[in-house]
Amino acid sequence: MSEQSPFRQLPSVDRLLQAPAVRPLLVEHGRVRIVEAIRQVLDQAREAIRAGQPPPSQEALLATLEERLSRESLRWLQPVINATGVIIHTNLGRAPLSPAARQAIAAVAQGYSNLEYDLVAGRRGGRGYGVERLLTQITGAEAALAVNNNASAVLLALTVLAAGRAVVISRGQLVEIGGRFRIPDVMAQSGARLVEVGTTNRTHLDDYRRALEVHEDVALLLRAHRSNFRIIGFTTEPPLEALARLAHERGLWLMDDLGSGALLETERFGLAHEPTVQESIAAGADIVCFSGDKLLGGPQAGLIVGRKPLLDRIRRHPLARAVRMDKIALAGLQATLEHYLRGEAVEQVPVWRMIATPADEVRRRAQRWVRRLRRAGLPVQVIAGCSTVGGGSLPGETLPTWLVALALPSPDAVAARLRRHHPPIIARIEEERLVLDPRTVLPEQERTLLEGMVEAATGERMRG
Ligand SMILES: *Cc1c(COP(=O)(O)O)cnc(C)c1O
Repeated sequence: MSEQSPFRQLPSVDRLLQAPAVRPLLVEHGRVRIVEAIRQVLDQAREAIRAGQPPPSQEALLATLEERLSRESLRWLQPVINATGVIIHTNLGRAPLSPAARQAIAAVAQGYSNLEYDLVAGRRGGRGYGVERLLTQITGAEAALAVNNNASAVLLALTVLAAGRAVVISRGQLVEIGGRFRIPDVMAQSGARLVEVGTTNRTHLDDYRRALEVHEDVALLLRAHRSNFRIIGFTTEPPLEALARLAHERGLWLMDDLGSGALLETERFGLAHEPTVQESIAAGADIVCFSGDKLLGGPQAGLIVGRKPLLDRIRRHPLARAVRMDKIALAGLQATLEHYLRGEAVEQVPVWRMIATPADEVRRRAQRWVRRLRRAGLPVQVIAGCSTVGGGSLPGETLPTWLVALALPSPDAVAARLRRHHPPIIARIEEERLVLDPRTVLPEQERTLLEGMVEAATGERMRG
């Protein structure tokens, strides 16, 4: 036996497949994935043998297999509990949806719908009617169109309205939103030519005027919202009204990429002012683009509102077909917008409910959590902290909150264990402490979170 090549001591794929410990894994993951994982585990073992290590036991191989499969399944899309206090967390799926939006999605997903069917006439109809009606009613715009996301909304609008012509924008607004969305790149992709005016910190109306004298092929003026950073100090920019007036005097359009697209006033909740869609329309912007899943609090979508003749042109362009919304998101968006029309968005749309939750209420929740975690013997306390809105809105602004802080010897290890919980729990580490912000934890997730916390922290202590 000892003479035998160490490679031959490794079990075959079939042998491992038949091991009793693999049976439940087969049920959970399916044969294709298990066979692939076994091959990888065996390859890895051969590599180790070549490097001079002894062949692993079958037990060790099975343990590696399980670890590999569980790591792999963590990469699959699944719900997580967001205890970070970042309300619109782009990495965590942005806006959680209202119960009505979830129900609308389930109902439309379950069977057939009148997606493109006119129930009055009994024949083919357009899609997105409800969403478009709601958007015009809420924002005061003449017309609206919903597409896949705001990146495609901006690309589509620029392609239709400005391809082969120039677009004037302030140097202070040549922004990168993240995820490789950069205004100059999107502009290039649309076929529009970028004309930058002013400086990073100061742009005057005269800068725009001068550009219009020099460049004869300007299609529109563009304003892009600085969603994720602030310029402070010696700064100036003309108000939107002035830009709209200038554009219209020259027979041009003003387009506003608002990004987060607030439909409610953020000042009501002690935050700085985030530009609203209604304001842009009232100021005379002809095209306004914004996201469905940022401050609007709905599913992923890109919304374009503005002048009817422009929207009619945009709607007819082949690119509009390429970036159209699917029925699932459309159903969720329609239900979310209805909350605004009914004046119940603050209560019903989770993003706004989280923003509106008073610090005292968060504190009471934190205190409840602390009592529960102390009973399990964990070293926890309630401390003051900050939540942020996130999602490309209100950069640098915070909401006062109360955090549950755990002083543990290895907060990173506990955070890692929390991420492997079912469902995964995402916490924050601050000054060597693991902290949980109740503001972004949905009430129905509270129990799971606390159980997971106890498990992760005591597990870690027992190991340590
Ligand atoms: C977020 C954002 C976008 C991109 O919107 P998505 O919905 O993420 O595609 C574009 N422009 C601005 C100003 C933004 O803030």
